[in-house]
Amino acid sequence: MELLSEAALTDREQGMPRYRRSVPLQGRPITSMGIAQARIPGGGSINLMRVMQTNACSLSCGYCPTFCGGNVPRATVSPEEVATTFMEVQRKNLAQGLFLTSGVPGRATRATDRMLATLELLRRREGFQGYIHVKLLPGAETAQVEAAVQLATRVSVNLEGPTDDHVRRLAKEKDLSGDLLPKLELAGRLYRQAREDGGPGPRGSTTTQFVVGATGERDREVLGLVARLERQRLLHHAHFSAFQPVVGTPFENLAPTPAAREARLYQAEHLLREYGFRFDELAFGADGNLPLEHDPKTTWALAHAERFPLDVTRAPLEMLLRVPGVGPRAARTIVQARRHSALRDLRDLKRIGVDTVRAGYYLTLRGRRLAKAPAPHQLRLFAPGEHLTQAPFRTPVPPCAYR
Ligand code: SF4
Repeated sequence: MELLSEAALTDREQGMPRYRRSVPLQGRPITSMGIAQARIPGGGSINLMRVMQTNACSLSCGYCPTFCGGNVPRATVSPEEVATTFMEVQRKNLAQGLFLTSGVPGRATRATDRMLATLELLRRREGFQGYIHVKLLPGAETAQVEAAVQLATRVSVNLEGPTDDHVRRLAKEKDLSGDLLPKLELAGRLYRQAREDGGPGPRGSTTTQFVVGATGERDREVLGLVARLERQRLLHHAHFSAFQPVVGTPFENLAPTPAAREARLYQAEHLLREYGFRFDELAFGADGNLPLEHDPKTTWALAHAERFPLDVTRAPLEMLLRVPGVGPRAARTIVQARRHSALRDLRDLKRIGVDTVRAGYYLTLRGRRLAKAPAPHQLRLFAPGEHLTQAPFRTPVPPCAYR
């Protein structure tokens, strides 16, 4: 269990605390479990126990330490072991939800069946009604996708890359357009249909992940695919992992991807999902990637100087959302607050949650621009250097396994 949980891994998800606790399970202390805080659909966060059903794998993903040729200790846990361990962890209130993933030893359908058996035990025998995220394996069958949607709160399929060519170069056994993408779309359609029907159907959502920078794919390609899936409401959100070479893997000699690229992709995806930006409004450089020197919202605002400054007391919500330093919650609060009270100065905006240092240049109040020049600092989702490891690492668990 320890080997297959996230015990030794530095997580890249910024701001999400991880817990290292001694957990006495089945009469024997397990020194650390892969329990980490995670955001859940609909808002809020819970502690998730994250575990692989097995880290044995016959696939050759070039970035992954547990690829078929990887020299790492292997282990497998049965559905019964995962289910009873999780229920014990849950009863001790150390985790309220489960994230289940797996390597692919041999036939994908068999490995997927083991994961589904774990979910069946939790839902049907243990009566667990809480959050379960299951990562579907490449090669899972249609019926298994349907079963996963019924059992899990969140189903993810890692697309890894934006085109067939890029995915094949990451892992020659993986097939984007013939396998991964249709499975993700199927899960998304089933959840979307259940939401639209409003009946007792499954409630949940999908996510995916891209490994960025190892095969020369462009941000424009990645975000184009993400934007299409989110627009069709087949995907809740996407994760991006800046490629980092791992010792002993086929890609160990490739150059790492700058951490800033991962941050820019996350920022752009937030603009599409939460700020009302269209894909064709995102600005890409001549190389097809997001500029690294500015966050994508600042890039847009600087390129559309004629649209600013905005009068805080009158600007429509959709324009407030385009102001660097104004998030969706702050923009909505401004619209609400100005109906019944006067917003007078920067302090009022600060109280509402506006980053006034960044937003001031783009806003006016009582006819006065709130800052003379754009703020020099940029929006960062990650503290500098903190979300990526500084040196190649060795771990029995793939760095991207838990997203
Ligand atoms: S990423 Fe997953 S499928 Fe690929 S080698 Fe690693 S464990 Fe196997």
